[in-house]
Amino acid sequence: MPKAQETILEIDRSALTHNYNYLKSKLQSKTKFLAVVKAFAYGNDAEKIAKHLQWLNVDYFAVAYTSEGVALREAGITKPILVLHPQIVNFKTIIKHCLEPSLYNTNVLNAFITVANEEAQTNYPVHIKFNTGLNRLGFWESDVDYIINKLKATSSIVITSIFSHLAASEDANEADFTVNQIKSFKVIATEFLSKLDYKPLLHLCNTSGVINYPEAHLDMVRCGIGLYGFGNSANEDKYLKPIASLKSIISQIHKIEPNETVGYNRAYVAKTYEKTATIPIGHADGIGRHLGNEKGYVIINGQKASIIGNVCMDMIMVNITTINCKEGDEVIIFDGNNKATDLATSLNTISYEIITSISQRVKRSFI
Ligand code: PLP
Repeated sequence: MPKAQETILEIDRSALTHNYNYLKSKLQSKTKFLAVVKAFAYGNDAEKIAKHLQWLNVDYFAVAYTSEGVALREAGITKPILVLHPQIVNFKTIIKHCLEPSLYNTNVLNAFITVANEEAQTNYPVHIKFNTGLNRLGFWESDVDYIINKLKATSSIVITSIFSHLAASEDANEADFTVNQIKSFKVIATEFLSKLDYKPLLHLCNTSGVINYPEAHLDMVRCGIGLYGFGNSANEDKYLKPIASLKSIISQIHKIEPNETVGYNRAYVAKTYEKTATIPIGHADGIGRHLGNEKGYVIINGQKASIIGNVCMDMIMVNITTINCKEGDEVIIFDGNNKATDLATSLNTISYEIITSISQRVKRSFI
């Protein structure tokens, strides 16, 4: 593997293939696979990730915002794209780009039917989202008749799927809650289907749901984080491979004397004769200031170097007093061995936030 010569996020397509195949191996062959590629495919590169998954013959994609779906269409993605959180103002654009909206309340349902009629659509594919306990987006069970009556009064839309989202599928302590969500969804779906003369797809599981609740795989699963190589526990992580490595380089080495200080606000004071390395990555790249002052570290030649002083916008300084290294050497912020989950733990957050926070100015380099 060539060494990094600048700050890059290196993305390994073979790890993506591995994770996709691993998650698929958990499913029955009839169960479809939807890849969640919102937020730049969790910080990677939505277009390149989606192209690779399309090549692997994934069934569906999902994004959060309409603009993300448009970008994928413009990049040549032809598989169906579910827009999880569209706004009414986006509905014409959704139709123009053959995107499929999630309709989650009466306002958006009615508005979409109106726009679909105006655009002379028949049987336009839409997805109905039900709330089963996350209390974020979704119709209630008591809305079923309302939706069915609306459907009977129009030919402009067709329900491609009915879905819901689990609130705590990663948490064994919340298993009772999750089992109840699964039950509620099945009850709603059964009632809904009994009033339709065709059968939409049913889907509920995210990555942790796929791993922990096989009985809830239904017709399709929606995986995000697992594709990128993370589970939500050591057990879930075991067979997944992080696809991204965040790497940089030592720009400059300084030798400092006792009581000299490093960086803004003179936050680090040398205790003895020390050596520091300056690395071109900072809080504008996703290395949060909370990692400064020895809360976080990087790896240089296999050894941990603490981040000292305050994280700057474009730089960090690390302590290399006991590390054998030179200017130009590679620096690992995270990779397959030094996981973003460790960084997440130092920051009291989750891997999702770490990987989606790597700014767009960091070059994505695919291998
Ligand atoms: N489905 C919905 C509605 C989501 O919002 C998300 C992600 O937040 C997912 C599926 C994918 O979840 P995960 O990344 O945990 O697999």
